[in-house]
Amino acid sequence: MAKMVKNRSKVHYDTVVCGGGPAGIAAAAASAKSGCRTILIERFGRLGGMGTNGLVNQFKVPENPPGVAELFSSVSGRENDCELLDVAYAEMVSGSGAELLLHSPVCDVITEQCGDITVLTGVRVGTFSGFLDIIGERFVDATGDGTVAFLSGAEFEIGRESDSLVQPATIMFRVSGVDHSRSMEANGGRGQYRFPEGSWDHVTMAACRRGELPPNVGKVRTYMAERKEDRYVNATQVNSIDGTDAFDLTRAEIEGRRQVPVIMAFLKKHAPGFETAFVSRMPATIGIRETRRFRGMAYLTREDCMKGRRWPDAVVTGCRKPLDVHNPVGPGQAGKVSADHPAGKDPRPRPYDIPYRALVPKDTDGLLLAGRCISGDHHAHASYRFQRICMATGAAAGYAAAESLSQNVQPRSLDVKPVQNMLGLDGRKKRCDSGDIQQ
Ligand SMILES: Cc1cc2nc3c(=O)[nH]c(=O)nc-3n(C[C@H](O)[C@H](O)[C@H](O)COP(=O)(O)OP(=O)(O)OC[C@H]3O[C@@H](n4cnc5c(N)ncnc54)[C@H](O)[C@@H]3O)c2cc1C
Repeated sequence: MAKMVKNRSKVHYDTVVCGGGPAGIAAAAASAKSGCRTILIERFGRLGGMGTNGLVNQFKVPENPPGVAELFSSVSGRENDCELLDVAYAEMVSGSGAELLLHSPVCDVITEQCGDITVLTGVRVGTFSGFLDIIGERFVDATGDGTVAFLSGAEFEIGRESDSLVQPATIMFRVSGVDHSRSMEANGGRGQYRFPEGSWDHVTMAACRRGELPPNVGKVRTYMAERKEDRYVNATQVNSIDGTDAFDLTRAEIEGRRQVPVIMAFLKKHAPGFETAFVSRMPATIGIRETRRFRGMAYLTREDCMKGRRWPDAVVTGCRKPLDVHNPVGPGQAGKVSADHPAGKDPRPRPYDIPYRALVPKDTDGLLLAGRCISGDHHAHASYRFQRICMATGAAAGYAAAESLSQNVQPRSLDVKPVQNMLGLDGRKKRCDSGDIQQ
């Protein structure tokens, strides 16, 4: 059982990790394993972030580097199964010695000013018995949206350089009752299966034109699930929303969920094996792909990814997930949407590094970034937002929080070599991820 914090108005920890998604779980476990008194704070009632509450079931835990794989050893091997993942994550957190506080959104911060630098000293969480101040020496912002960094006044960017538009939001859902033997997945896969119209993407776009699908649903992706007769469906799409604005989020939840029965009717009519299928699970929250990216001491660009840039302070290596940008203004993927053919390959980077300094906000002390809110541009983010890479940045941030306390320096002044050693990055070329699944 994970240890729970008793209700008090103020508590103290060495490391306070905010956000219990893939990045935060890794950060909390790494910090606690390094001997720091650590708490993991999560706004929902279960761990896992998008991977559980958003039904984003497509991921594998990292096999490399060893310092990350070891943290996830009790979870590894899981793929396509997000049903009990939160239980495994809770075991992993409690096994590391970290404490856990669920149902507790961070809604404010406590800071001090030191010249141009803001020093974060505490976060305020809302609980059902009032506010609780959690004071710490080091904080890891793994909220996805970078809420702690934002409330601390850290500089951030959002969306594309040209117009600040972000990738669309999606309600993932699960379908049951599929006749697997007749499905595309069992007969050559979605890419190879042929229809009179051509590919599955052609079928989808034609339905879009006929008004059978919402106009911005250009792709209907069906993913294998834990059971053969189930699929997770990644298809609903809500454009032009700010995932940090509650009014936009409300609109997106309503619109995304409204699209589900329409897509279900399309699948039953056109997808082989789906004739008697039905929606068996909806997510707790809409899936948000992209919000704030904070300016760090280093900044990862599209070019860095495409050229496979190596950094001396690398804390994640061998990242090679595609730069998977979903179209911020219409159907399909950005940059290669034509009327008939929304498919195509996303740019595949050469294996690139993530430098430690991309986890260190340039204007805030006491704070490290982890997961999808780290420092990089819109296109680099489209690759490092994959869960495996988020886990790896989380582990790096957790070890760095602990090591900065032991070196008695702020994260910005940390000698990163001991962290690289803890992660098992010994200079040899290692891969932390693979695959090209579209998200
Ligand atoms: C539709 C969709 C499909 C995707 N497909 C894939 C895929 O196929 N493969 C893949 O690897 N990745 C995929 N992704 C991307 C991936 O899910 C995310 O980028 C990844 O989960 C980000 O991890 P994170 O830990 O940074 O944030 P999150 O997973 O978002 O976790 C953040 C956690 O912080 C909590 N939190 C937020 N604010 C607060 C607060 N104020 N106080 C306390 N807690 C808070 C949240 O509840 C959440 O638990 C997809 C994303 C979407 C939306």
